[in-house]
Amino acid sequence: MNAGESRRQPCGCVRWRLQRGGHAPVAVPPYNTSMHHPTPLDPLAAIPSDPAITALPKADLHLHQEWSPRLDRVLARREGRPAYDWRGWAESLMRETPPGMPRLARLSRVFPAPPEADADPANVIARLEDLLEEAAAAGAVYVEPRFGGATALEHPDFMALFREAERRVRARHPALRAEATYTLLLWDEPERLERIVTACLQAARDGLAGIDLLYQPYDTEAEWDAAARIATRAADAGLGITAHAGEFSAANIAAAARLPGLTRLGHAVYAASDPRLLDLLAARGITVECCLTCNVVLGAVPTYEAHPIRRFLAHGIPIALCTDNPVQLGATIGHEYAAANALGFPPAQLFAITANALRASFTPPARKAALLAALNAHAPAEADR
Ligand SMILES: [Zn+2]
Repeated sequence: MNAGESRRQPCGCVRWRLQRGGHAPVAVPPYNTSMHHPTPLDPLAAIPSDPAITALPKADLHLHQEWSPRLDRVLARREGRPAYDWRGWAESLMRETPPGMPRLARLSRVFPAPPEADADPANVIARLEDLLEEAAAAGAVYVEPRFGGATALEHPDFMALFREAERRVRARHPALRAEATYTLLLWDEPERLERIVTACLQAARDGLAGIDLLYQPYDTEAEWDAAARIATRAADAGLGITAHAGEFSAANIAAAARLPGLTRLGHAVYAASDPRLLDLLAARGITVECCLTCNVVLGAVPTYEAHPIRRFLAHGIPIALCTDNPVQLGATIGHEYAAANALGFPPAQLFAITANALRASFTPPARKAALLAALNAHAPAEADR
């Protein structure tokens, strides 16, 4: 790992190192392995979108800033060169790497744009603008990207950069609203983590909407005391709280669900392996941020069809559809809604999922009410339901 990687390694894109020498988790698949689908959806192929789905207002609550892949895309366009081939990367990931933690360990390990380029505030705005534009073009009316890593330290005014990007995209897509959140890596060196937490608490006054917690070990039981202390401070500052949990095992789902102020969980796929966990999420009204394509590409589930999204809904657990790492995984929010529609979710159900995502968002109450009022004006026609 070179110095640049070391400095940027704990970036906000999902990144944690594999626990070397750790025991493999004993994981009970959350899906029915006996299910047979003759033509499963291909996660790396375009999914034709019905016009009613294309027109549907969408919301994305879980997507990482992907600073380097996103900035490379911007710079490539500016320089008239091809951007890094993420489609080829994803194909090789699925072909060469076993599903689960080994694939996760390869995510956010390629840095096609260098840290020096991200030191320029204009480039930060440009890559955030690219992120928001991509979502708005796919029909998003609300996006909640996650900053991470060194951004708050290198750009103490990151909320101003974010608002400038939002302003530019809203000039083209007036319906779009966006809020920023921040992913905290609990394995960061304590002094550095504290500086980032402090920066987030200060940014809350500038409109930062929430935090997301990542920890190690990810797929076996982690220690949650430090996370609970940070969550308490964040909740006191008015920040919304979410956490990654249950992507590759059932470990940590219950502990994360009980964090002070937590109202959402990223992935939680393995909650479906234990009715008690489903009960816990339902009882607490926790919204699951379902990242269908990410879950298939990284191997949390073998196919879209095996994803427990319907079990969550049947259990009374609210869900949102999210992209997680749009550039690296090729998952626009339009693609995620089209995938859900191909799985049998009709427009009215997807509309209800957008409404729930807005209710579960970390945007302030006045903005939330305005978003929900605007959404209601776009309820699918009866013929499309
Ligand atoms: Zn994530």
